[in-house]
Amino acid sequence: MSHQLPRSLAVLGATGSIGCSTLDVVARNPERFRVVALTANADVAGLLKQIQQFQPQYAALADRDAAQRLATEVKQLGLKTEVLAGAEALVDIVRLDAVDTVMAAIVGAAGLPSALAAAEAGKVLLLANKESLVVAGQLLMDTVAASGATLLPIDSEHNAVFQCWPQGGAAKQSVKRILLTASGGPFREWSLEEMQQATPAQAVAHPNWSMGAKISVDSATMMNKGLEVIEACWLFDCAHTQVDVVVHPKSIVHSLVEYIDGSVLAELGHPDMRTPIAHALAWPERIDSGVGLFDLTTAGALEFFPPDEQRFPCLRLAREASALGGAAPAALNAANEIAVELFLNEQVGFTNIAELVEQVLNAKAWGSEAHDSLAALMAVDEEARALARQLAA
Ligand code: NDP
Ligand code: MG
Repeated sequence: MSHQLPRSLAVLGATGSIGCSTLDVVARNPERFRVVALTANADVAGLLKQIQQFQPQYAALADRDAAQRLATEVKQLGLKTEVLAGAEALVDIVRLDAVDTVMAAIVGAAGLPSALAAAEAGKVLLLANKESLVVAGQLLMDTVAASGATLLPIDSEHNAVFQCWPQGGAAKQSVKRILLTASGGPFREWSLEEMQQATPAQAVAHPNWSMGAKISVDSATMMNKGLEVIEACWLFDCAHTQVDVVVHPKSIVHSLVEYIDGSVLAELGHPDMRTPIAHALAWPERIDSGVGLFDLTTAGALEFFPPDEQRFPCLRLAREASALGGAAPAALNAANEIAVELFLNEQVGFTNIAELVEQVLNAKAWGSEAHDSLAALMAVDEEARALARQLAA
């Protein structure tokens, strides 16, 4: 399958870590991409700089006041970009005929409506926003199947699995299991007692990857890997028992697929998100990502360890939510988003994150809540958020 060039791109979450890496790859391949729209939440200065560089037809900020300020600045600079405001604007943008490819790189469940709209509209959906699949896996996958949209994973592990997945007609039954690698985060060797004292600054200081604050805390609790187990189940149509996690501190092996004949395929490289971003942007072709040569002789020893679910209970909680099914993963995600926010604001301790998530998950039979529409899932999301706040107060 080949896509028409240049591709018309909307980047949602453009000012974030994935958004900036995406635009870095785009700028290296100007003949292949036309940036039609850039969006963010409230970062006026960050988006304005990108507008000046890429001159998109549209820009949008979810925060209406910020959008107003951006519109004034855009006008003063004589730029032609039309500035839209509000969360609905993001949904409107992905539906535009002028957009064929959407980079969904908003953080959290806030990214779900636009990712779902891109799927509905049959776009090429480059999905970094793993929370969408955790919250609305069934709905999103059904929507992709119904519309004929193309869904490509940006998350490095899932992009690696995608690259190692059976090609050329080999049946999915040939796969024994998926092995997701985890760096183990900054607290890989900390005791539970030490983790109780962990500060936000320590939690966001990831040893290998440079990422936004929320996913950095998720990596420190290993909830990130829990969310990724659920993400893998939806992307590759398998049960969570078929997805194993292995701790690999150097983040060089990005994940593996084990086949029934004993073959294990892995994707390796520098821990730089521009590689999976470039892979998905150009798929099924390949383009320069700006990531330098990988030298195995200087990479040193590659080590692998089993994960410790005693010290990192979020991994277990995510598997429990996956087994419960229904709206349980949406509740898990919502509780986690609130717990992380409270931790970053120094209102709860680091180990309280897992405790809060567990309390919310056990508070209700989330598995039997409706989860077949965006509205139903947003209601669960809201309820679980309120509950988490109440339990933390
Ligand atoms: P960042 O926090 O760096 O960036 C988030 C982006 O989303 C910003 O552009 C932000 O705008 C925008 N945003 C935040 N809230 C809203 C909202 N309510 N409405 C609209 N836009 C919003 O996040 P990352 O780039 O690190 O992560 C983005 C997604 O990609 C997450 O789902 C994450 O799990 C996933 N991911 C990230 C990886 C990484 O290496 N960073 C790796 C794999 C997956 P503003 O700047 O205005 O606040
Ligand atoms: Mg990942």
